[in-house]
Amino acid sequence: MDDFLTKTRNIGISAHIDSGKTTLTERLLFYSKKIHKIEEVKGGGAGATMDFMELEREKGITITSAATCIFWKDLKINIIDTPGHVDFTVEVERSLRVLDGAIMVLCGVAGVQSQSITVDRQMKRYRVPRLAFINKCDRTGANPLGIVTQIREKLALNAVPIQLPIGLEDQHIGVVDLITMKGYVNEGDNGERVNEIPIPVDMQEQAEEYREKMLDAVSQYDDELMELLLENKPVSEDLIRRAIQAGVHQLKFVPVLMGSAFKNRAVQKLMDAVGTFLPSPVECEKMRAMRAGDEKEIILLDPNAEKPLVCMAFKLVEEPFGQLTYTRIYQGTLKKGQSIINVRTKRSIRVGRLVRMHANDRDNIDTASAGDIIAMIGVDCATGDTFCEEGQEMLTCESMHIAEPVISMSIRGKDTDADTKMSKALHRFMREDPTFRVHTDIESSQTIISGMGELHLEIYTERIRREYKADVQVGQPQVNYRETIQAKVEMDHIHKKQTGGAGQYAAVVGEVYPLPENAEELFEFQNSVKGGNIPSEFISSCEKGFRDTVERGPLAGFQVIRVGVRLTDGRHHAVDSSDMAFRICSRDALREAIRNANPLILEPIMRVEVETPSEYQGPVIGDLSSRRGIISGTDARGNLALVYCSVPLSEMFGYSTDLRSATAGKASFSMEFERYAPCPKTIQEKVIAERAAKKAAEKK
Ligand code: GDP
Repeated sequence: MDDFLTKTRNIGISAHIDSGKTTLTERLLFYSKKIHKIEEVKGGGAGATMDFMELEREKGITITSAATCIFWKDLKINIIDTPGHVDFTVEVERSLRVLDGAIMVLCGVAGVQSQSITVDRQMKRYRVPRLAFINKCDRTGANPLGIVTQIREKLALNAVPIQLPIGLEDQHIGVVDLITMKGYVNEGDNGERVNEIPIPVDMQEQAEEYREKMLDAVSQYDDELMELLLENKPVSEDLIRRAIQAGVHQLKFVPVLMGSAFKNRAVQKLMDAVGTFLPSPVECEKMRAMRAGDEKEIILLDPNAEKPLVCMAFKLVEEPFGQLTYTRIYQGTLKKGQSIINVRTKRSIRVGRLVRMHANDRDNIDTASAGDIIAMIGVDCATGDTFCEEGQEMLTCESMHIAEPVISMSIRGKDTDADTKMSKALHRFMREDPTFRVHTDIESSQTIISGMGELHLEIYTERIRREYKADVQVGQPQVNYRETIQAKVEMDHIHKKQTGGAGQYAAVVGEVYPLPENAEELFEFQNSVKGGNIPSEFISSCEKGFRDTVERGPLAGFQVIRVGVRLTDGRHHAVDSSDMAFRICSRDALREAIRNANPLILEPIMRVEVETPSEYQGPVIGDLSSRRGIISGTDARGNLALVYCSVPLSEMFGYSTDLRSATAGKASFSMEFERYAPCPKTIQEKVIAERAAKKAAEKK
């Protein structure tokens, strides 16, 4: 087997905000000698190395994922920094796709928090093998073993400690490794020395007990281990490691490690565990790809440097000298100077420069092969694009799960200069983030930006102001409603105009029907016209006309979804029929049909999870109910309550402020899109009236 590949790990670090992901990453960089001085996240100094964007520094949270490479013992570890905020789930998902494994960081006091649950769901979706690291064991109230129970109960993961803390809170000095049955304590200013010690006497019994539990849990992943245990025979360390590794790779077991990033405790043991338990690119599940143009057959990519190249861009960063494209190579070898094809655009591109990233620094490299994560410089592409070798079969990696934007607002520059800078920024953000969209409203000619939540749009407007120095103003955030129909209706419409000279004549007949909620396409068009009543050259104009209407529904101008049109008949005129006549006729015909088909407005419903001290549970639920929320469940965890709820997005504006003031700042929440559901009648009338008023105001 390729030694280089078996020694590579592509991992992510996921966590709820403030659990210490950035601090931990910083320690990983430090111990691997990539940086020479540890920077703290908060307060003065240059800020943590991974958080290189100015804005991130200020907010103290990581928004954009950056990839960095570290060397630890004989391992090369590529770390993809995954963002923690739910408004940026596309970034998380994008990163998760290219990972072979992850460290799930949890705070030793707060434990499983709302964001841990969201990220856990995503990790399960992308089948990412994991280690858990319980951080902040030095904090008052730290209870790592209690957190293990939370992981088991709240996340339904088979989490089992493979370490025990030596001392907690200000007594925390290291960990007992239940595999070697030795203690490991850190020494030196930055904990750089790891000393092996015998298990402290007062911990021996506990260590025996937890080792038994661990062996019991992992024995099922290795027959040999199981047999030895049944026969009460001694088991080797390697055998235990092999069993744990098997459980992790099969996604059935999550080993729990612990320590303190801030106090430099047990971070090196975590790095060792990454090498021992998380899969290398050869051991992980193979990436699935499809032939361009024929997406039925799944082709598994082979992490083999000799095979034809397939790589995928998962992250773009615009830089002064060109675009930095973070790329995962799934098959073959990528070389500097090579020409590759962007499968989506079919264009050939020459790879001018290849680099290996370390936070904000980089090393030039000449080649990189399957299993690796590197960045190309100056390659023009969009996120998610697949590249193949010239002359080889064109394959494309699975498309990403991209959510529809649910919120929009208008944006404009103060003057032409600001407008120019703004459009440059918007163009870039759109290419980097598929959940961020920009369009021009036909009626008002305003520029409208759309995204996944208030914060999502806020961050981008801030970035336009800071990074592009453009003075922009934004309108109120607006919910992206949709329109749909509830009944099947006939459609029969004539478009006739006689204004001297050539006239316009077209007629279309057919039916309009609702599509089920789970339909893959939002709009469906079927042509069943027989006998040339509509000459075939006009059919595509009819479809265009229908699509025009679907773009802006008749109720309030929102996109119409879940509608099908079957064109069955029509009439034409030898002289007066034209593409334009059929397009206008179809547009009007569908508008009329939708009005007759019992139309309604759909609103985005969000899945909301609130975590609150239990004394506030009543008020939190009361407040959610007054926001038309439907509570789907609650959970108690010690003194904390978790509330699961579905709430219309329109009711969630300003929720973070309200929640904070109602709970003395002690509650937190996460929110993601769930589905589009019918609006209650009164809300529907209000939405329609508001749109009409807005239109009238724009006409003035
Ligand atoms: P992130 O939001 O998950 O990236 O968390 P940060 O790394 O920014 O850490 C959040 C805060 O927790 C910072 O003030 C850190 O100094 C602090 N912190 C991180 N790790 C630890 C730890 O192990 N112990 C203690 N006591 N504090 C920590």
